[in-house]
Amino acid sequence: MTIAENLRQVKARMAQAAQRAQRAPDEITLVAVSKTKPLSLIAETAAAGQVDFGENRLEELCQKADAAAQSGLNGIRWHAIGTIQSRKAKLALRAAAQPDSGQLCLIHAVDRPKIAQRLSRLAAQNNLSLDVLLEVNVSGELSKHGFSPASLLTALPSLLDLPALRYRGLMTMAPFVPDAEQVRPCFRQLRRLLNDLRHNFPPDQNPQATWQHLSMGMTNDFEVAIEEGATIVRVGTAIFGHREYE
Ligand SMILES: *Cc1c(COP(=O)(O)O)cnc(C)c1O
Repeated sequence: MTIAENLRQVKARMAQAAQRAQRAPDEITLVAVSKTKPLSLIAETAAAGQVDFGENRLEELCQKADAAAQSGLNGIRWHAIGTIQSRKAKLALRAAAQPDSGQLCLIHAVDRPKIAQRLSRLAAQNNLSLDVLLEVNVSGELSKHGFSPASLLTALPSLLDLPALRYRGLMTMAPFVPDAEQVRPCFRQLRRLLNDLRHNFPPDQNPQATWQHLSMGMTNDFEVAIEEGATIVRVGTAIFGHREYE
């Protein structure tokens, strides 16, 4: 199967899931997760009409963004989807500050106050603001990163005081399970949490928060995530095939 064909099938499945939930398919953005895949495959995917690409390591994102720009592959929207180590946070600014290499449009996984503070400080120094999502560990799995729902509510007042972050919504990684139905409650809980935030920290009083996005759903479970309100799905394997390494 070609990448174009895989992409077409993923989009068709997304549209069907949206329809089941009586949602408009164009409310949902597909981020093609290209981690470990070479630029040639990104170019092939872009040629098939894909604009949004996700990388979980910032070094790899910066390298690919530079290489894409150098090879004349313009207009990509890059998404930083992985956990950011403190000492790598500078790379997010590098990507954000070089619009010629495509745009770093969204940081999906702000998972602790310390990284939020650091990103805001670096962004302010560069006269930029960054669009971010807050990662929530809804399942409570110890291996997962992210705020617990309770710790997020506690942290929010000080997060909202940071000058250079714009809070666009929430992100979660569901546990890996054989049957995606099992993670439906996680997705539903994330949507409820977003509704709580809209109510408790309304955008008209907190202009740096818009709370419009739910980034949830991967190859294994994106249809259930869309039925539960995802506005962004992050899909790698179903587009590019299996990864040989992580
Ligand atoms: C790798 C990755 C994905 C995509 O996973 P697939 O199962 O290949 O679709 C999505 N989100 C994050 C944060 C990832 O690291």
